[in-house]
Amino acid sequence: MCVVAHPDDECFAFGGALALAADRGIETYVICLTDGQAASNRGDATTAAALGAMRREEFRRSCEVLGVTQHELMDYHDGRLEFVEFPVAAEQLVERMRRFKPDMVMTFGGDGGLNTHADHMMASMLTTAAFHWAGQEKRYPDVGVPHKAQRLYYVTANAHIPNRPPPMMMPWTVTLDIRSVRERKTEAFRQHVSQAPLMERTKEFFERYGAEEFYALAAAADPQPARQETDLFAGLAE
Ligand SMILES: [Zn+2]
Repeated sequence: MCVVAHPDDECFAFGGALALAADRGIETYVICLTDGQAASNRGDATTAAALGAMRREEFRRSCEVLGVTQHELMDYHDGRLEFVEFPVAAEQLVERMRRFKPDMVMTFGGDGGLNTHADHMMASMLTTAAFHWAGQEKRYPDVGVPHKAQRLYYVTANAHIPNRPPPMMMPWTVTLDIRSVRERKTEAFRQHVSQAPLMERTKEFFERYGAEEFYALAAAADPQPARQETDLFAGLAE
């Protein structure tokens, strides 16, 4: 399960991991918390609602390219995630985790990702709480049967995007070689037609660093030392 804040996060940040999972026949569920109405790149949309509708469709197409099994776009306001009622929003994720029963959950880290977006930080906080609470009987006892996912990962990176305030990123524990799905990740990004200027601006960065994605193991079912891995599912039964 992958929780993101905006349409395009799923490919920009997690595209390699999602496509690799699809190639291994691993079921994936991507939850996007907002429809991205507040984006500065607006395509030919003249209203926020029109942009939201456009980005919803772009998200659907991108998930299709990545081979995502199930995707869902929720109705939170883009740019306003820090003002949501925390326990209510976390409950919605707990409910989905108890229903989908993921082995692994991935989201942004507390740094807010490469562009330090507050919505990304909130996706991280909400997903982290939901990850732990979904497995605890005392939390939301009326919302499904407790489910403990095995692992929580935060996406991180080995470089900063130039000319942007740099995030303070988490050290990675997984280096994912995504060369075999790199073209698909780019193709997924191309589905976000309204965000084409962003793709243009980050082209050089991804050309240079796009062969890998980096993740940090943030929680695990078994006590263990931090290790360097090359697979998000290493040691989990398939
Ligand atoms: Zn985003």
